[in-house]
Amino acid sequence: MQKKLLDYLEIEKENHLMQLIDLLKIPTISSDSKFNSAMKRGATWLQNHIKEIGFNNVTIIENRDKVKNINPPVISANKKGHPIVYGEWLEAGPNAKTILIYGHYDVQPVDPINLWETLPFEPTIRNGKIYARGSSDDKGQFFCHLKALEAHMKLFGKLPVNVKILLEGEEESDSSLDEFIINNKELLKCDYAVISDTEWIAPDTPSICYALRGIAYVEVKVTGPNRDLHSGTFGGAVDNPIQVLASMISKLKDEHGKITIPNFYDDVLELTEEERNEFKKLPFNEENYKKDLGVAALNGEAGYSTLERTWARPSLDVHGITGGYTGEGAKTVLPSWASAKISSRIVPHQKPNEISKKIADYLRDIAPPTVKVEVDELHYGGPVLVNRHGEGITAAIKAFKKAFNTQKVVFMREGGSIPIVTVFENELNAPSILMGFGLPDDNIHSPNESFALENFFGGIRTAAIFYDLLK
Ligand SMILES: [Zn+2]
Repeated sequence: MQKKLLDYLEIEKENHLMQLIDLLKIPTISSDSKFNSAMKRGATWLQNHIKEIGFNNVTIIENRDKVKNINPPVISANKKGHPIVYGEWLEAGPNAKTILIYGHYDVQPVDPINLWETLPFEPTIRNGKIYARGSSDDKGQFFCHLKALEAHMKLFGKLPVNVKILLEGEEESDSSLDEFIINNKELLKCDYAVISDTEWIAPDTPSICYALRGIAYVEVKVTGPNRDLHSGTFGGAVDNPIQVLASMISKLKDEHGKITIPNFYDDVLELTEEERNEFKKLPFNEENYKKDLGVAALNGEAGYSTLERTWARPSLDVHGITGGYTGEGAKTVLPSWASAKISSRIVPHQKPNEISKKIADYLRDIAPPTVKVEVDELHYGGPVLVNRHGEGITAAIKAFKKAFNTQKVVFMREGGSIPIVTVFENELNAPSILMGFGLPDDNIHSPNESFALENFFGGIRTAAIFYDLLK
């Protein structure tokens, strides 16, 4: 069965590439309303494509509609944004697994355009890669799944599992997909959510991401005197809110890079020895990392490596400070207030709302009586940790090995957040399988985005085998 699939995919390569090129030509930039009609064209292209593969109930959900009925099921949509493309094939029966494939067909803006060697929406092949905006993030990656399922359909007239496809058009702008998911839990019910929207740690090293950090965010405002003062008249007698804020910020971490907020680390899940050993073996070169960043030395929590610090330990960063006079020339103001935006990347099992509260309480505690402190707690996403020994991940590893003819499949974590993964986990109770096909030098979000052809074809093979293994 797998041989048949692989033989077929080999023959279809050229065809698949031509179709991807077609999709990449549509400038689906979600954040710029000039491209709204392209967004619609992209959604329609995908709807037709998914229909042709043999999916049922293939629907474009216009988010601007309040509620949209299709028969069945009833889909209630969210209020704003770009269309969602949904399709399903549920004929594998109630005992078969149900997989939800998530992807996004919207792309990042292309500026600065003059740095592109070839135009972002005129896909070009060179150096074994296809260059175009969206080639890796995420059109090329989710397209692998469509082609894999099409192969099953063409060869066997059916799919090995039940499949629901959910493609959104707002991932790169302000996504409202969470609302759609919350309103359509029954429709989207599944055993696993499969997402191909991540990178490998290095070329030739298929990587499965099993944990993501979350984020807790606060904005703090320190107010001193009731108006801006003259520093000649008042300087030396009245506390300066900028300096007070700076001193409060400097108390958030100690000289060993530890966050000093009381009970901050209470719920942190420590890395296992197994994980620490695996991280050590990953192809990560600290010298190149420093060179790439243009820094002479790195700094972080003592006792942890760079990968551990960014993937599995909480961090805290100030994103901006506002206050006083920053214009041209010298103005001797003793400002009335200063503010800062501060966030913490949190790890399993820390909770964003609790961490926001701990940061806020601590800032209020350490403030001197000369100022008033207000903290806005904005809590964002929670962290994610997927069971590495679950059936889905095991199948993904096997599929990678076979499709890329390698024994070298590694586990990795990611320091950032993929909010939708948390939503699948919390709302649908579905673990996510982050089966990415991208490479670190794909230049996603930058000029000259590319997707390695070997990873495109290999990604299709991986997906085809993966679904076969889950039956
Ligand atoms: Zn993406």
